[in-house]
Amino acid sequence: MSQFINGIHRESVSGEKSDIIDPSTGSTVATVTLAGSDDVKLAVLAAREAFPAWSRATPGERSGLLTKFATVLEGRAEEIAQLESRQAGKPIRLTREFDVPGTIDNVSFFAGAARNLEGKATGEYSPDHTSSIRREAIGVIGSISPWNYPLQMAAWKILPAIAAGNTIVLKPAEITPLTSILFAEAAKEAGIPDGVINIITGRGSTAGAELMRHPDVDMLSFTGSTAVGRLVMEAAATTAKRLHLELGGKAPFVVFDDADLEAAIHGAVAGSLINTGQDCTAATRAIIHRSLYKDFVDGVAELYSKVRLGPTLDPATDLGPLISMDHRDKVAGMVDRAHGYARVLGGGIPGGELAAGSYYAPTLVADAPADSEIVRDEVFGPVLAAMPFDDDNEAIRLANDTPYGLAASAWTKDIYRALRATSEIRSGCVWVNDHIPIISEMPHGGMKESGFGKDMSTYSMDEYTVVKHVMYDRTGIAAKDWHRTIFTATQ
Ligand code: NAD
Repeated sequence: MSQFINGIHRESVSGEKSDIIDPSTGSTVATVTLAGSDDVKLAVLAAREAFPAWSRATPGERSGLLTKFATVLEGRAEEIAQLESRQAGKPIRLTREFDVPGTIDNVSFFAGAARNLEGKATGEYSPDHTSSIRREAIGVIGSISPWNYPLQMAAWKILPAIAAGNTIVLKPAEITPLTSILFAEAAKEAGIPDGVINIITGRGSTAGAELMRHPDVDMLSFTGSTAVGRLVMEAAATTAKRLHLELGGKAPFVVFDDADLEAAIHGAVAGSLINTGQDCTAATRAIIHRSLYKDFVDGVAELYSKVRLGPTLDPATDLGPLISMDHRDKVAGMVDRAHGYARVLGGGIPGGELAAGSYYAPTLVADAPADSEIVRDEVFGPVLAAMPFDDDNEAIRLANDTPYGLAASAWTKDIYRALRATSEIRSGCVWVNDHIPIISEMPHGGMKESGFGKDMSTYSMDEYTVVKHVMYDRTGIAAKDWHRTIFTATQ
């Protein structure tokens, strides 16, 4: 499969290629072309040339095309779900019931949002002038996305950008580019003009770095690790590009002593295992009141033992593989080291027919010290660390004891505790008595080292538009009253 530039599939100028591997079997799903510097230049040029007409299209025209786009995607939903499962190792239930319908709903949402930009009322804020606000597209967006939710991350970057009248060059992760290409292809099928959405399929250190530094890119929107996010910030400084960064996470899952324990146990299992734990908002640090701690640990460990690992395309599979053997070895290494300082329940690399894939079993690391590696660093695997607390102050302190601030949950039936937790936990989202659900109307984005800016919702339209003030003189007088402050010769 080749990249998608200016409405057509193109091999890379260098002709370099790379295999996309199915993490559940180790077999090759497709071979893709690898973009280099010349391809980035072509894609940015296509986006630049498409910008004037696309940014001048009426909101109604853009909305109409996005509505058709949703219909095209619905017709290709099963094809996209299968491809997403194969390239990213996701269980087919997850891609059929979450990734693909969520993406189609996002497209429909932004079809509506395109027509609903809001701003301050035009008016006479000075008696001699009328002021109005224009909300304009920024230009060419350079976007880089990760491998964990390839389709959804592409959609979250592309949709608000183009709904607001920008054009975009997206570089998906080099190991999972296939559904981003299909997404752009479907947009063309719906009538979205050539050059509005361009996908380049290269490595981060080459194509990504080139895109970030391209002088004709007006804004960088990045989802990925905090370490690479820092590089993106540095690159943006070269030509003062606008920035939107969605980075790592280490979500706390706080269970107070009055919580519904059964609900918390179910929530912890689903919230930590979604996408095999390769989710920036996944529950990773279970902070549990000491009175419930033992039962919570036993309950989660028991449910973990019942989770079915299996082939990604089997609808009975609960948990798929990790993205690669390298990543599995990283997760296994962190759990191996945890044996030295905590109580590890479950875990391990399954054998038999799963041995060819990068599978790792659900793992609960109980009694993990707050300063241990498993509690502080992103594992990005099916691993939950658990620790007890004794009072509410300690729970909030532990929840905030992380450089990240993307998502969190608080489990309690006490409204006052919920109010305190939701205001004092420093993260972009706090769920109460649940963990994970997202919805097109509501924003997703972080605080602290989880980045800044919002995906989804009308808040994301703010990221991709710039506010312009236009001020009209109402007097028609040559020597205006305020000129006295500067010079008096004609007064
Ligand atoms: P990553 O940072 O390694 O890679 C992300 C993207 O950056 C890829 O496309 C990669 O090719 C590119 N890249 C890598 N090095 C680059 C460089 N030097 N210059 C330019 N581009 C470069 O992250 P990943 O491993 O793909 O994804 C996992 C990370 O993403 C985790 O930290 C996770 O928390 C984070 N994430 C965050 C969110 C969010 O919404 N906050 C969502 C999903 C994933």
